[in-house]
Amino acid sequence: MSAISTIKILKENTILSFSPSNQPVCKAISGDVITFETCDCFSNQIQSEEQLFSSVGWDKINPATGPLFVEEAEPGDILKVEILKISIAKQGVMTVAPNLGVLGEAIKEEKTKIIRIENGKALFNEKIQIPVRPMIGVIGTSPETEEIPTGTPGQHGGNMDCKRIVEGAVLYLPVHVNGALLSMGDLHAVMGDGEVIICGLEISGEVTVRVSVIKDKIFPLPLLKEGDHIMTIASAETLDLAAKQATLQMHNFLIEELGVEFNEAGMLLSLVGNLRICQVVDPLMTARMELPLSILENYHYHLA
Ligand code: CA
Ligand code: CA
Repeated sequence: MSAISTIKILKENTILSFSPSNQPVCKAISGDVITFETCDCFSNQIQSEEQLFSSVGWDKINPATGPLFVEEAEPGDILKVEILKISIAKQGVMTVAPNLGVLGEAIKEEKTKIIRIENGKALFNEKIQIPVRPMIGVIGTSPETEEIPTGTPGQHGGNMDCKRIVEGAVLYLPVHVNGALLSMGDLHAVMGDGEVIICGLEISGEVTVRVSVIKDKIFPLPLLKEGDHIMTIASAETLDLAAKQATLQMHNFLIEELGVEFNEAGMLLSLVGNLRICQVVDPLMTARMELPLSILENYHYHLA
């Protein structure tokens, strides 16, 4: 998919929390194509394996480029974000540190690994080359009144670390304030579900999106369409709760949008819905419920 972008937001324009008090750095109208240049989650500060995670201040972690003000967006609307293109740098970085991630208690010492990308593959070691699948870790809009750190996921989006937010995906986010205030960052060249060690292959890059405002529609948000699936994404204090919420949200979508009867909708989810882990290492855990798009086609339903 190619896109011609006329507006570009440079990586120097970053936020560290999603907040209604953030001043927009750029304005767009519904339907515009915008490119966000993004730093990696370490604010591009780690460039060699001698630099450890502890050398980067927490105040430099997870910058998001933005915010973008979308003219027609008003509270109650939905912001549709079509991810037209993701370009990544030639190398990414991973860090490991004691007490971080699923293995944190067992980790004895810090380590930084620089991983080069060649011909679409991440050169992990002499035996392993991993095909890249660039994704957006942090993408969201402003909450209504709160200030939510960019490292935390939620209903506004944020640090969802969902590996299916890739080129070609369409993400639906809530609009809580005028202009929506869209920001994004924290690209990963590749990441597995769970993000267990606490990072993906962290990398800088550029994301080109088309933003459109949807009026008079209620979706369970965030909602994602990618490949052959539609997904509800939910974040909560435990993975159990996140999983339950993602399921309830898709169940609600089946009832409200497709008109499926309550118990039938539950049975359907139990047969063809796949409940998956996005990440278990952020301040809140994130899960998603994936439903085949073919179910929507069976009902002749087209997503806005
Ligand atoms: Ca992240
Ligand atoms: Ca990350």
